[in-house]
Amino acid sequence: MNDWDVIVIGAGAAGLMCAIEAGKRGRRVLVLEHNERVGKKIAISGGGRCNFTNLGAGPGNYLSNNPDFCKSALARYTPWDFVALVEKHGVRYHEKKLGQQFCDTSSRAIIDLLLAECAAAGVEIRVNCRVAEVRKPARFVVSTNTGPLESAALVVACGGLSFAKLGASDLGYRIAKQFELKLTEIRPGLVPFTFSGGDSALGELSGLSVPVRARCDGTTFEENLLFTHRGLSGPAILQISSFWREDRTVEFDLLPGRQAVDWVANARRESTDALSLLSREWPKRFAEAWCARHTPAKSLPHYKAQELATLATMLEAWPLHFSGTEGYPKAEVTLGGVDTRELSSKTMEARRVPGLFFIGEVVDVTGWLGGYNFQWAWASGHAAGQFT
Ligand SMILES: Cc1cc2nc3c(=O)[nH]c(=O)nc-3n(C[C@H](O)[C@H](O)[C@H](O)COP(=O)(O)OP(=O)(O)OC[C@H]3O[C@@H](n4cnc5c(N)ncnc54)[C@H](O)[C@@H]3O)c2cc1C
Repeated sequence: MNDWDVIVIGAGAAGLMCAIEAGKRGRRVLVLEHNERVGKKIAISGGGRCNFTNLGAGPGNYLSNNPDFCKSALARYTPWDFVALVEKHGVRYHEKKLGQQFCDTSSRAIIDLLLAECAAAGVEIRVNCRVAEVRKPARFVVSTNTGPLESAALVVACGGLSFAKLGASDLGYRIAKQFELKLTEIRPGLVPFTFSGGDSALGELSGLSVPVRARCDGTTFEENLLFTHRGLSGPAILQISSFWREDRTVEFDLLPGRQAVDWVANARRESTDALSLLSREWPKRFAEAWCARHTPAKSLPHYKAQELATLATMLEAWPLHFSGTEGYPKAEVTLGGVDTRELSSKTMEARRVPGLFFIGEVVDVTGWLGGYNFQWAWASGHAAGQFT
């Protein structure tokens, strides 16, 4: 059969959720996936345990040129709705931190529950099926490596450009352009930084982790940073990377939760040097490298007032410049995408192309690190599934 009510391009989180909801409404749904398996990103997510939602997820946790767009879908399918689905399938899970929900055993449990729901809703899934292009003479005609298919509604759920090795493609953006829908600028998000110039020497600290408050462009995240051979990673870095631009500096509060000025004043009373004191706060190798760069080689009581003030400033706002990021191959998400002003926030349908829907990461809605991106995939997929 080549004629369907709904064709969904992409068997990721958003596409499978949409297919389930449309199938439950009695629609004849076909999901097309060019990988040999569904849900490859789900499989590797959360270090193999899928951080499948965040109980605190709300519009404030998303970046978009149109911050209000995600409100409606997120309100109609909440983290608790997905938790209920997880519990219905007996998947064991736990909260790791900050509202982040993870599987106890493996991400496979989330893929299995989605496949079970698809089967129950009568959804057909075709893997190894690559969509090359789409046309719309009257109905949608989808050209694939296994021949043409037709449908009344077409759901574009083929994700962004990150992690091409898991199947990412630019098809979603191409389809949007073809139908003359605007795109916002796309760039890698939740991505490690690479050092520039003199900071490259910090690569010798690779593997060390330090708690910080990272700040860029008025946004802060208090988490750990991790030194890599080429730059910085870790949750604080991935979070702040989505707010960074090439011309901007990222500042790090290296004593998060404390006033650096007070810390320096107290430290001065102990007649010792900065390295001894900071080695109590940080891994020794980081303290050594940082002090060699930023502190005079003398004990704190011998610091001039200006030197103390500089130390406090550096501890509170250590500035680093980055040459760039590791790019799409290591970015967990793609920022930007189909301009939300082209879509209905209720249905995810293109306002000017009846029957054409965009959901998940291909849309200009990107979550923070911590289960927010899957929550957007579930919520936008659920919204579209009610109307396809
Ligand atoms: C390493 C990593 C870890 C992550 N961990 C988490 C996490 O723990 N929690 C969280 O919330 N988010 C996490 N994310 C982000 C999350 O995985 C994505 O935001 C989410 O998967 C997006 O879902 P989607 O369905 O929109 O797109 P995708 O999951 O990318 O699915 C799109 C599908 O479309 C298919 N496709 C593309 N082009 C074609 C074509 N031409 N023909 C047919 N099929 C095609 C792709 O193969 C893919 O299967 C992680 C991302 C990465 C890369």
